[in-house]
Amino acid sequence: MEKPIDAFWLKRLEDLKEALEANHFEVHITQTAASARELFLEEILPGLEVKTVSWGGSMTFMATGLYEIMRDDDRYEVLDAFKRDVPREELIEIRRQALLADLFLTGTNAVTEDGQLVNLDMIGNRVCGITFGPRHVVIFVGRNKIVSDLDEAMVRVKNYVAPVNAMRLDMKTPCVNTGYCEECNSPQRICNTWTITEKSFPKGRVKVVLINEDLGF
Ligand code: SF4
Repeated sequence: MEKPIDAFWLKRLEDLKEALEANHFEVHITQTAASARELFLEEILPGLEVKTVSWGGSMTFMATGLYEIMRDDDRYEVLDAFKRDVPREELIEIRRQALLADLFLTGTNAVTEDGQLVNLDMIGNRVCGITFGPRHVVIFVGRNKIVSDLDEAMVRVKNYVAPVNAMRLDMKTPCVNTGYCEECNSPQRICNTWTITEKSFPKGRVKVVLINEDLGF
């Protein structure tokens, strides 16, 4: 067999698709970040009525290249929550307004084999957008985000995702020095709000694009 690792993960993604669909998510499977981008632009986006668009922090979403494409598409009013060189107050206001966007694009920290999305936020704008507000949510998920259950999801997020994110953001938190979560009380603690999205409500509001690549962390 050629590419046995990809074949292995495709089986896992197909099982996960069934589990997520049983939880009322709309689900698509693609092989690469580039094919996820094409699928979104050609099959998902045309079916949605979108005037305003925004996003929440996600390395996987960034890997698709859709950030630049959507940001620069003047057919949409873009609430650019990743805008650089703007005062923090302005950025927070953009993130508040983003919660009323027609379309919200992001990733997930983990997804369980029985089809639940698990996330942990610093500010909360990403988990809020996933939960309520934007009319449509599209979540891009690399195969490396699959975990067996909620316990494994929380271990993954707390002992891997959060320290790596703290390092990426140059936070002054103990995990940046030790590589382990120290359950800190730092003002820059990035672990403040957990969400477990058991099902999409209404059905199909949250669309999940599963990608057969390791993406993000
Ligand atoms: S609680 Fe603090 S130490 Fe633990 S991962 Fe989050 S930021 Fe790092």
